[in-house]
Amino acid sequence: MAKPLILIVEDEPSIADSLNYALSTEGFEARHCLDGASARTALREREPVLVLLDVGLPDVNGFVLCQEIRKFSEVPIVFLTARSEEVDRVVGLEIGADDYIAKPFSPREVTARVRAILRRGRMHSAPMTAGATDIEIDEAGCRATFCGNELELTRYEFRLLAVLVAKPGRVYSRSDLMSAAWEDPGSSMDRTVDAHVKLLRAKLREIDPDRNPIKTHRGLGYSWESRA
Ligand code: CA
Repeated sequence: MAKPLILIVEDEPSIADSLNYALSTEGFEARHCLDGASARTALREREPVLVLLDVGLPDVNGFVLCQEIRKFSEVPIVFLTARSEEVDRVVGLEIGADDYIAKPFSPREVTARVRAILRRGRMHSAPMTAGATDIEIDEAGCRATFCGNELELTRYEFRLLAVLVAKPGRVYSRSDLMSAAWEDPGSSMDRTVDAHVKLLRAKLREIDPDRNPIKTHRGLGYSWESRA
């Protein structure tokens, strides 16, 4: 499985470097963007588990970028703020941030905060996972059972299915699925995901021809839809 990705959007390289180092030693993968434009690109390539967002960026105000991100993503956002007026605005405005950390901060403080927020997020999403009752995933044994019938899956089919089923209803882009299920995503293409989804669907259809629980979202990706 890929390491959880944290996106750092910060125009001061020294701050970004220290965060990058602290997060990497804590088992995260950190990606650094210097401005809003490259952050937008990074967000569409692969959704991070959390965004650390500087308020004062060279091309866009962090508050504006946060509101933009909220239009398409629920990813936790933590502001890195330099001045107390900024803190007041983060707290006072409904801009959809999850938390803020005032500069100067220690990288250790940031990783502790990141962990706390991710723990909180997992607790919220737990009931959703429990909704997928028609499918059972045995991660340790790499086995999956659909409507009581065991599926015969290849390694990649199994991994794709496990990622989708873990969060029913959540739409995963092809690159999300690629980085979650393949060891070396760089060598694969979007259509690799499509081909495996096609094979998976055929196997699910053999068990229940009336259902197609893997839903295609045009231009976005795939999600698992559990029976209501
Ligand atoms: Ca800045």
